[in-house]
Amino acid sequence: EAKQNGKSHFEVFNPAMHDAARARLELESELRRSLERDELYLRYQPIVNLSSGTLLGFEALARWEHPRLGDVSPNQFIPIAEDTGLIGAIGSRLLGIACRQMAEWKASSRFVDDLSINFNLSAKQLSQKGLADEIRAALHESCLPADCLRIEITESAIMENLHVGVELLCELRESGIRVEIDDFGTGYSSLALLHKLPLDVLKIDRSFIGKMLHSVENTAIVRTILALADSINLDVIAEGIETEAQRSQLQSMGCNFGQGYLFSKPLDCDEISQLLCQQCNPNPQRQPCSCGPF
Ligand code: C2E
Ligand code: MG
Ligand code: MG
Ligand code: MG
Repeated sequence: EAKQNGKSHFEVFNPAMHDAARARLELESELRRSLERDELYLRYQPIVNLSSGTLLGFEALARWEHPRLGDVSPNQFIPIAEDTGLIGAIGSRLLGIACRQMAEWKASSRFVDDLSINFNLSAKQLSQKGLADEIRAALHESCLPADCLRIEITESAIMENLHVGVELLCELRESGIRVEIDDFGTGYSSLALLHKLPLDVLKIDRSFIGKMLHSVENTAIVRTILALADSINLDVIAEGIETEAQRSQLQSMGCNFGQGYLFSKPLDCDEISQLLCQQCNPNPQRQPCSCGPF
């Protein structure tokens, strides 16, 4: 019967699909081992004040360096971690690393007291039981105050998990942890809802920032998000700022904070330590660095 319409049943087993499925299965089992082999780590991207250039903090971004496959993008392995249920274990491992790193930086420089670290949670983690307790415990173990940590959750993740999501965000904010909506503008949240969500910051998705200069429409979207944030007293961070033109346009529209390749790509912990050293002592030629051992 299948042959009557000129196709074979066996088409579902075409070689390309087979390869893709096999590659995916391989990634799944390798990701499981990545925890035992300690292949996951973080890079840190500076978030800055757009007018002064001062550092506000960093966003911790997951990295996986596989011995044979090389660097695997978080866009590839985070969804697999979610589907396989590994996200809980991976998330706690990374949160521990982020908190210990932040504690180390704090111990080295008083300047770091004013900085905070952003940590991404994925949709599947929102419904994880005891997550708020786990986050508080991670802070506690590294002796970090709650205002050191900012949790990022994408707009679509909140929309998909509205009930448990709101509960978690409330709990985090009651503990003093700030909450930021990531990739804002891509997730269709309603105005009425946004007003009720327990939030501190909107992060404008980089797709709007990238197209801003050549698209009246994208500029209008950014302007609208800024007005909206202002009306409900939220700060705004623009993501993916790559050019000076974008920075100055954002600043002229009243956006105060941003991150992107214009300022810095995500850095490893040693590079951040150097950056902190420069920030607390901007003229190392004249004075020896006094910010302590990194
Ligand atoms: P995100 O949270 O929106 O992170 C911003 C992404 O934009 C990062 O990609 C960053 O490297 C990239 N980026 C920053 N500045 C620029 C720029 O100027 N131009 C361009 N083209 N890109 C820029 P990355 O590190 O590949 O992460 C991708 C996504 O993976 C993240 O998007 C986040 O959703 C997810 N992710 C990363 N780390 C974690 C994690 O620890 N946990 C969870 N659940 N998700 C994570
Ligand atoms: Mg993020
Ligand atoms: Mg984002
Ligand atoms: Mg993103």
